[in-house]
Amino acid sequence: MQGSDWLRGARTPEGARSTASGHSLTLHGPSCRDLDAAHWIPLPPGGPRRYTPLVRSESVALRGPSPEAEVPAPLPRDERLRALAALQFDVLIIGGGVTGAGSARDAALRGLKVALVEREDFASGTSSRSSRLIHGGLRYLEHGHLGLVFESSIERQRLLRLAPHLVRPLAFIWPVYAGARVPRWKLNAGLMLYDALSLFRNVKGYQSLNTRDVHEAEPGLRTDDLKGGARYYDAATDDARLTLANAVGASEAGAIVLNHASVRQLVLEDGQARGAVVVDHLTGSEITVRARAIVNATGPWSDEIRKLDAPAGHAAPAVRGSKGVHIAVPRERLGNRDALTLLSPKDGRVMFVLPSESFTIIGTTETSTRAHPAEVRASEADVSYLLESANAFFPGAHLTRQDVVSAWAGIRPLVATGYHGKADAGSASREHHIDVSPSGVLAISGGKLTTYRVMARDVVDAVERHLHQPRRKSPTETLPLPGGDIPSMDAEFATARAEVGNASTAVHLVRAYGSRWRHVWALTRQEPALARPLAEGLPYLAAEAAWGVTHELAHTLSDLLIRRLKVAFETRDLGGAAARVAAEAMAPRLGWDTAETQRQLAVYEADALRIFGVDSPDA
Ligand SMILES: Cc1cc2nc3c(=O)[nH]c(=O)nc-3n(C[C@H](O)[C@H](O)[C@H](O)COP(=O)(O)OP(=O)(O)OC[C@H]3O[C@@H](n4cnc5c(N)ncnc54)[C@H](O)[C@@H]3O)c2cc1C
Repeated sequence: MQGSDWLRGARTPEGARSTASGHSLTLHGPSCRDLDAAHWIPLPPGGPRRYTPLVRSESVALRGPSPEAEVPAPLPRDERLRALAALQFDVLIIGGGVTGAGSARDAALRGLKVALVEREDFASGTSSRSSRLIHGGLRYLEHGHLGLVFESSIERQRLLRLAPHLVRPLAFIWPVYAGARVPRWKLNAGLMLYDALSLFRNVKGYQSLNTRDVHEAEPGLRTDDLKGGARYYDAATDDARLTLANAVGASEAGAIVLNHASVRQLVLEDGQARGAVVVDHLTGSEITVRARAIVNATGPWSDEIRKLDAPAGHAAPAVRGSKGVHIAVPRERLGNRDALTLLSPKDGRVMFVLPSESFTIIGTTETSTRAHPAEVRASEADVSYLLESANAFFPGAHLTRQDVVSAWAGIRPLVATGYHGKADAGSASREHHIDVSPSGVLAISGGKLTTYRVMARDVVDAVERHLHQPRRKSPTETLPLPGGDIPSMDAEFATARAEVGNASTAVHLVRAYGSRWRHVWALTRQEPALARPLAEGLPYLAAEAAWGVTHELAHTLSDLLIRRLKVAFETRDLGGAAARVAAEAMAPRLGWDTAETQRQLAVYEADALRIFGVDSPDA
């Protein structure tokens, strides 16, 4: 049975029928309560697989054949909500970060009936606050985590292949200075091992560099006491879009995925978890989702779900928060050409200087924290640490607080036992861990963005064991992520440039949407107003706001401008100017009237400040 056939073949008592928007599932009010396992009807192999767009109000009817028609669109939100309340699922996954979204995709592709609920938006937690590296984790070699580096290196190769639009090779320069904690010989030995652990299948092997090579590669770097260095390779990604690709992929495989919906309570029957009470934050309604297995994939929130599972309060903390902060400055201020790995002169910690289009991202700090994951923000002390560290290596830059375009913080959900009693979060293992509570809730914690696919595979294996089902091979090992079916990125860029004209928009569209960029671009032909840029100097188009609503599960302005696009963190006004254009494109598709549009703008402004603002020293 194809992943989504269980859903598309599901019948209401009136029988299966298509919706006005072409979907093959309509759940009608009370009658959908009558659905039960007996109604799962597999479609014949090779049966109809045609989807058409979902949310299309009268006012935005598209002319001519829809370019969206070839890309599956998620069910309308109200239908998803009704399906969640009506159906019995094999597994309910709580948390739509990269771990939960990846698990939902894996499980749905294996043919399980999957529900995924996310408190805010996909990737709104740690999965949009990372350094955006898909990396072997060179620094973990120092702590002897060879198994993790090996696994991560293999995953890096795999994701470069399965999502070439979202994961791309990135060259790093590691300069070595006199007296550094990692001298040249040690760096070279480490990099040799690093390449070996990727079975010499990394994009390219490392190169040892002399002083002149380093200076030529990064002319802005301090040359005093420079002893040489090395160039090595890892990969960069867009963490939020990687997560989103998994949520969308899960939906396309038949999972019912819902953002802005959080688990408030677990349904425990005879001591076993049988479902959860879910609050829909957009309508205020409350539903009960029933499932035979429950997965807690809430990252730094994990212990909150554990408490629901053990109301008497016996659950020991399983996750320890480690806060990490990044800042973005205009690229020309540092003038870095590639990425750099540096040892902070303040405390010898590994930190990165990362190119991100016209910005440079500097990060990260690493400190233990008890801050709530929904509220964690950068502090002035974090920003100063990063600025001082960068200035020590780029003496000509004289970066100041005024150069900081945005700052943001995330909490690494490290396995509590990974600390081995030490206070230093940096040495804690990034390996993942699955445990099963007495009520049967499977909790997955720890891990990295890079290893999300392995985490997802392992937890879905555990779900199959829990359900006493035969274990199936994870299809995610070889199946490209949505948009990832691109034989040659260079050819794709060339086609996009020829079609779109504006080179930076063309490159952005291909990187964000992969092979699906054509569908986004085609919207501008059908509705010329959608060809408007969202903000001066940035490559984003109003068409992306429309696509975000119809195909990428965006329900708020913040969903669009903070996670699906990077507008908020790339503009000094935190996306203020872009917000109105985006809202105009979203409003007719989401049925927003003037008052709702104003409310969305206000909420967006508050969200952008909450996430990208900096706490004052006395906060
Ligand atoms: C500063 C920093 C830099 C990093 N850099 C890298 C890197 O470069 N490379 C790398 O591989 N890894 C990196 N990581 C690690 C990586 O980002 C995380 O391991 C990963 O994103 C964790 O994903 P997750 O899905 O487990 O958690 P999250 O992304 O936090 O997802 C958990 C989700 O659960 C939701 N949730 C919580 N409670 C509920 C509820 N009651 N109901 C429904 N939903 C709920 C939350 O809203 C959240 O979206 C970094 C981490 C940090 C903090």
